[in-house]
Amino acid sequence: MKLFSIGKLKRKMLGPEEASPLLAKPEKFEHSEDNSRGLSSRWLTWGGVLRFVIYWLVVVFVIQHFTGWASKVVDAVVGLPKDPRKAAKRILAKAPVIDGHIDLPILVRGLYANNASAFDLNGELPQHVDIPRLKQGQVGGFFWSAYAACPDWIGHDDGPDFLNSTWRVRDTLEQIDISKILIEKYSDTFQLALTTHDIYHAIRHGKIASMIGIEGAHQLGNSIAVLRQIFTLGARYVTLTHTCHNAFADSCGTLPSKWGGLSPLGYSLINEMNRIGMLVDLSHTSDDTARQALKHSKAPVIWSHSSARAVHTHERNVPDDILSMVGIGENKTDAVVMVNFAPDFVADPGEATVQAVADHIEHIAKVAGKKHVGLGSDFDGIPSTPTGLEDVSKYPELIAELLVRNWTRSDIEGLTNKNLLRVMKGAENVAHKLQKQGVEPAYEYYDKRTDLGRRQEL
Ligand SMILES: [Zn+2]
Repeated sequence: MKLFSIGKLKRKMLGPEEASPLLAKPEKFEHSEDNSRGLSSRWLTWGGVLRFVIYWLVVVFVIQHFTGWASKVVDAVVGLPKDPRKAAKRILAKAPVIDGHIDLPILVRGLYANNASAFDLNGELPQHVDIPRLKQGQVGGFFWSAYAACPDWIGHDDGPDFLNSTWRVRDTLEQIDISKILIEKYSDTFQLALTTHDIYHAIRHGKIASMIGIEGAHQLGNSIAVLRQIFTLGARYVTLTHTCHNAFADSCGTLPSKWGGLSPLGYSLINEMNRIGMLVDLSHTSDDTARQALKHSKAPVIWSHSSARAVHTHERNVPDDILSMVGIGENKTDAVVMVNFAPDFVADPGEATVQAVADHIEHIAKVAGKKHVGLGSDFDGIPSTPTGLEDVSKYPELIAELLVRNWTRSDIEGLTNKNLLRVMKGAENVAHKLQKQGVEPAYEYYDKRTDLGRRQEL
C-alpha cells in the first residue's frame, strides 16, 4: 500500500517551491507564461513524435495497399508474363504453396537422432527440404508430419487386437517436440500455426506457416483422450490409419479387413475430431474407411498426401467413386485431395514426371472440382522423386505446367492454398458450433481394454 506520495515527501524535505516548479503557485504572470511555454514545447515534442508515427503508419499502409492493388491492375491490364515460369512465380508470390505433408521431422529423427544442433536448416540438407529451397519454391506453409511407424514395422507388433503395449505415443511426442524445436530455432523463417488465422498471419509477415499432422491413429495408443491431448500440443490433423489397421479403422493395402472400414470407436473418434477441430485425414485408409468417414464427418476432411487411382493404379490413390462424393452441396462432403508426388503413386517405373503429377491434379479437378485439389508432396518421406519435381524448390515448375494447360490464376490460388484454407476454416467452424451447443467430449474407449471402467465389478 502507498502511504504517502513522493511529492508530499519532497515538499516536507525541500519546501513547496523547491519540490517541483509545477507544484509552485505562479506569483507573477511571466512565470505562468514560462510555464505554459515549457508545457507547449513538451506538447510540441510529443505532438511531433505522434505525427511522425502516424505519418509512417500511413506510408506503410499506402505502400502495402498500393503494391497489392497495383499488381492486380498490372495483371488485369497486361496479363501475367507470357513465360509460364515467370507467371508461376508471380502467382506464387501472392498465393504461396501450403503442402499437406512434409516428412522433415522423421528425417531429423533418422539422421540426427532429433538433435537440432547436429545440422543447419539454413544450409543444405540431404533429401528434399531445407530453408533455402523452401524459399526458392515459394512455400508459404506446410504440415510437419509427426510420424511414428506402425508397431510391426519395428518388430513390436501390437497384436491382432492392438492390445500389446508399444512406444508409439512416446515417439509421437518426440516428433511433435522436434518439430516445435525447429520451428522455434528458425523462427525467422517458421511460425507455428494453430488456426487458419495464424496461417494468414504468418504468410502476411513473410513466414512459413508451420502446422503439425499425425500420420496414423495408431499413434494415439487407441485412445480418444490422447487425441485431445495431442490437439492441445498443436497437431491439427490425424490420418485415420497408416499402413496398419488400428482400433479405429482399416488401412488400405493387402491386409484382410478388420472392421469393414471404421470400427465403432472410429465413429466416436471422428465425432471428437469434429468437436475439437482436428482435421480428419483419409490418406492411407481403406476405401471403405474413406467412404464411411466422408459420410459420417460433420466437418470437411482432407487427403494430406494421395493422388488419383484412375490415373495410376495404387491403393494409396483415391478412386473416382470416392472423388465423386467430394464437393459442396447436398450429399457431398467438402474436402481437399492433396496430390502426392511419390513416383510409384504417380506413374509406371521411370515415367513419373512433373507432367504426370499435373495429370493427377487435373483428374481430381475434373471429377471432384478444382476447389478440391491441393498439394501434399510427401517430400523427405519418399525415396525418389518425379523428374522435374526433385525437391521443395520445384513447385513453380508444376504451376508453370498447369498454366500451360490453361489453369487460371484463381484455379492455381485454390490449388496452392485457398482450397486447404477453406476446408480448415470449415472444420474450425464446425468445432466452434459443436462446442457452443455444449456437445460433451467423447468418453468412449476401446472395449477390449481391461484397465478402465471395471470398478463396478469389484
Ligand atoms: Zn504417408
